[in-house]
Amino acid sequence: MDKFTYVAMPMRVVFGAGSIGQLGAEVERLGARRALLISTPGRASMVREAARGLQVAGVFDQAVMHTPLAQVEAARALAKSVEADCCIAIGGGSTIGFGKAIALSSALPVLAVPTTYSGSEMTTIWGISEGGAKKTGRDPKVLPKCVIYDPLLTLELPVPTSSASGMNAIAHCCEALYAHDGNPLVSLVAEEGIRALGAALPVIAQAPRDLEARTSALYGSWLAGLSISTTGNGIHHKLCHVLGGFGLPHAETHSIVLPHAMAYNAAAAPEAMRRIARALAKDAGSASAPVALWELERRLGLPMRLADIGMKEPDLERAARVAVQAPYPNPRPVEYVAVLELLHNAYQGKKPT
Ligand code: NAD
Repeated sequence: MDKFTYVAMPMRVVFGAGSIGQLGAEVERLGARRALLISTPGRASMVREAARGLQVAGVFDQAVMHTPLAQVEAARALAKSVEADCCIAIGGGSTIGFGKAIALSSALPVLAVPTTYSGSEMTTIWGISEGGAKKTGRDPKVLPKCVIYDPLLTLELPVPTSSASGMNAIAHCCEALYAHDGNPLVSLVAEEGIRALGAALPVIAQAPRDLEARTSALYGSWLAGLSISTTGNGIHHKLCHVLGGFGLPHAETHSIVLPHAMAYNAAAAPEAMRRIARALAKDAGSASAPVALWELERRLGLPMRLADIGMKEPDLERAARVAVQAPYPNPRPVEYVAVLELLHNAYQGKKPT
């Protein structure tokens, strides 16, 4: 066995159907009395309902994707003006991103209730965008003190969002399996995350209100978030961050790039590929990891080509150049010609060979 370092994140997780009922008790546990509720505009009524009976100091229901600085400042000002002593973020990565951005400047404790599978609730990673560029960093202050996972809150998550967000979570697990700072415990967690999500997502695509599948997908997304909470990212996340700068949607970009990024790394990370293929085995038969992921994406009816989600072919070269300038640690060297080929394959949605 290789040498490794393992770091555990200090947080509390409450999981299960109906666990939103424990929100009040969890806020009390934090010693808080004046919560600021955070949601996207579309989920505001669901969030108010979830927090019924709770003492709420204010509601910020203007969370949007990529945490733009102007909106972050408005949220921070509201938190200050209502003298909030904690933030409750109920929603996907965008909403939780606002809780983190407030915590970054104020150290207010965050209680996260994730309703997608993107996994932000488990990480110390924050991101704030300004002028078309997204600044990101890691800070223990932004890690939620408590996370409540309630699958009942995910029953209405639309199928395309569920599928793409689930593939985003699978991507976290895949890269954790070959992370330069990985460890045996994270690998167990990541493989189980892929297994749970790989089994649940096709069921959800057919029966979105299937509580067992929703529970399994949320369990998988917790494991996926846990996988990346202590390990670094590789070429897949690097490319998705770069493509995000071209205005492509977060989860769909992850979904499309993933099989091609795995094909890029296949020969350099054979053990990770074996584990990914094994986790998807029921679905994928004896297919290789990149093919099994590509087949899963196809079966979920997701967009398969970067061309489908707004990427312009002439921008591929610029994206490849940016990606190789400051690569994340990756099992295979990150080189321009090969990365450009990967991007062309993703642009065309080619089946990996
Ligand atoms: P999202 O939070 O933008 O949500 C997508 C849409 O789904 C929104 O319109 C939202 O209102 C809606 N929605 C959410 N839950 C719903 C539900 N249960 N029912 C119906 N509709 C629902 O999407 P996301 O993919 O979760 O998050 C993307 C953002 O999170 C990106 O900005 C990304 O950078 C960030 N992110 C950060 C980390 C991290 O560790 N910091 C990790 C993953 C993603």
